[in-house]
This record gives sequence, C-alpha cells and structure tokens, in this order.
Amino acid sequence: MYLQDEFKGKVIFITGGANGIGRATALSFARAGASVALADIDETQNEMSAQQIREIGGSVLSLKCDVTVEAEVKSALDKTVQAFSRLDIAFNNAGKYQRIAPAADTTEEEWRRTLDLNVTGTFLCMRNEIRIMLAQGGGIIVNTASGAGLVGIYDGAAYAAAKHAVMGLTKSAALDYATKGVRINAVCPGVIETNMMREVSGNTPEGIEKMLAIEPIGRLGQPEEIASAVMWLSSSKAGFCIGHGLAVDGGHTMH
Ligand code: NAD
Repeated sequence: MYLQDEFKGKVIFITGGANGIGRATALSFARAGASVALADIDETQNEMSAQQIREIGGSVLSLKCDVTVEAEVKSALDKTVQAFSRLDIAFNNAGKYQRIAPAADTTEEEWRRTLDLNVTGTFLCMRNEIRIMLAQGGGIIVNTASGAGLVGIYDGAAYAAAKHAVMGLTKSAALDYATKGVRINAVCPGVIETNMMREVSGNTPEGIEKMLAIEPIGRLGQPEEIASAVMWLSSSKAGFCIGHGLAVDGGHTMH
C-alpha cells in the first residue's frame, strides 16, 4: 500500500473520529500500522470506529471529548500520550455545518455555535497539540477546513467564515512553527457523503441533486478520498508543504 511504511508505530490523534471523514481516516492510518486515538462527543459511534480498528488488528483509544472545552481536549491528549507514549500526528477534523440561511437570517446563536465548534475547537486542539509536539521535538498537524474555507458559498456565511478562519489559523500557525519541527496544513473537502452532507441536503433526492450541482466532477466525494489526502499531508512526501489548504473537492473551488 502507498505510504504503508510511513506510519508504522506512529501515533495519531483524530477529532470527529466517530463518523464520516474522521472514521475513514482513522481506519486508513490503522491499516498503515499507526496507533489511533479517537476523540469525539458521540461515544457510541466513537466506540464503533474503535471496534472496526480492533477488528483489523489495530491499536486504538476511544475518548469522549468536546473540542470546544479545553479541559476535555487537554485530558484526551494527555490520555493519548500516556497510552501511546507520544503524539506524531493530529487530525483536527471535528466540525459541523450551520442551519442553511442567508447571512442576515443567521441568528447570533447559530453564528457563535458555528465559530465555536469549527474555529475555537480547532484552535484549542492545536495549542495543546503544539505544546506536546514542541516538547517531544516535532509533529504534524492537519486541520479540516473546507471548499467553504477557500471560496464563498450560498446560505452558509457562518460556516464559510469559520472555515476561512481555520485556513487563517492553519497558515499563521504554520509560519509560527515552520522552523520548529511542527508542520501544519489543512485539507479542504468538497461535498463528501457523510452524515453532515445527509443533514445539509435533507437526505432527499432534490437535496442531493443540489449538492451534486456544486461538483463539476458530477459525483459526491467519499470519506476515503479525504483520508488519502490527509495521509499524504501527514507523510514525509509532503515535507516541503506548510500552511497549505489542499482542495479535494471534485473541482468545486477551481473556478
Ligand atoms: P460527520 O457528521 O460525519 O462527522 C463529524 C464528527 O464530529 C461527528 O462524529 C461528531 O460527533 C463530531 N463532533 C461534532 N461536534 C463535536 C465536538 N464539539 N467535539 C468533538 N467532536 C464533535 O461529518 P463529516 O463530513 O465527516 O465532517 C468532518 C469534517 O469535515 C467537519 O469539520 C466538516 O465541517 C468537514 N467538511 C465536511 C464536508 C462534507 O461534505 N461532508 C465538506 C467539507 C468539510
């Protein structure tokens, strides 16, 4: 398998690992021999992800963690380091869309909730991960931004603002640690078939048609296609790549 030997014995911490993109990425790294710590608020599905990893002989920790609460983030990271001795890679991926609405119809509560989870959650994870990585001599971080972190979208101003902020955070922190051994990038998915997409589309044929219309490639993406990009960004093959937002989006953001 491509990159197979890169991740043997490595330790990866994944937020939002209970479902969708996080689960697919966790399974890909586990297949490649990494130990995986899954941090999520959804304990039941997180345990399901862990069980799938155990079934393929992987080493896994399932941790209940709300990424918007720093004490929970710190505790989950401490448990990861206690269990696996270090932290080589962090995939900050927990996130959620907003209620679909034009900007002026977006409530203040919705605005704050969307920024809190997508931006503050990513920041809280990063600042605790970076401290561990600096102390151990380096590490790699990949954040999940979005196509909506690169271009504007209809009826999603809070989400797009949040994901653009994730890009700003990724680029700026990448500069801060560029010479200190912590390499930081982001992945920018297009429309990927996960629970989030099903929720946004209303899971109706018309809703899914609308999602498809965003994608020049004429199909939706699969979580595994994001997992491969995260693996590449986390590998030595991407060693000269910092502060990048890698679009894996069926062409959504290319024009
Ligand atoms: P998903 O709903 O399948 O997974 C999201 C996970 O995040 C869930 O397991 C959920 O429990 C977890 N989560 C939510 N709030 C949390 C919190 N406070 N603390 C910890 N975990 C929390 O959705 P997905 O599509 O796999 O989303 C993963 C990431 O990809 C998100 O950041 C999302 O914004 C981004 N993204 C998704 C798409 C898409 O089309 N699916 C496109 C672009 C970006």
